[in-house]
Amino acid sequence: MTECIFCTLPKTDILVENELALAFFDKFPVNEGHVLIIPKRHVASLFDATREEIMDIWALLGNVKEMLDKRFHPDGYNVGINVGAAAGQTVFHMHVHVIPRYQGDVPDPRGGVRKIKKCLVPYS
Ligand code: 5GP
Ligand code: ZN
Repeated sequence: MTECIFCTLPKTDILVENELALAFFDKFPVNEGHVLIIPKRHVASLFDATREEIMDIWALLGNVKEMLDKRFHPDGYNVGINVGAAAGQTVFHMHVHVIPRYQGDVPDPRGGVRKIKKCLVPYS
């Protein structure tokens, strides 16, 4: 899988890692401090990852938050996973987006990840 950009990531890009997962900054960040967490093994989707990989990814999420809180002092986070091209996935090595959010970075943040598309029904 040498053509996978996440499998060939320079070691110096790694922010934190544990046995099965590692984290690094997104090259095209949505906000300052945008991090991606991936399993070290190449798996295309969340649903191809093992329970152990998911556990290690989840454990790293705590370390990443701690690091981002100290460095960027965000006011919130969006944490998300795109699964499949229809859902917007463009790199087919599973990754968790950890996107720090800052008060006022959009005029009306309400809804967060719900805003990926127009809702089917009104949310009152
Ligand atoms: P997706 O669209 O698959 O959910 O997310 C892929 C993410 O990978 C995007 O946020 C994009 O900015 C990021 N990305 C694409 N190419 C590179 C790269 O070469 N290095 C890093 N660090 N991130 C990348
Ligand atoms: Zn890969």
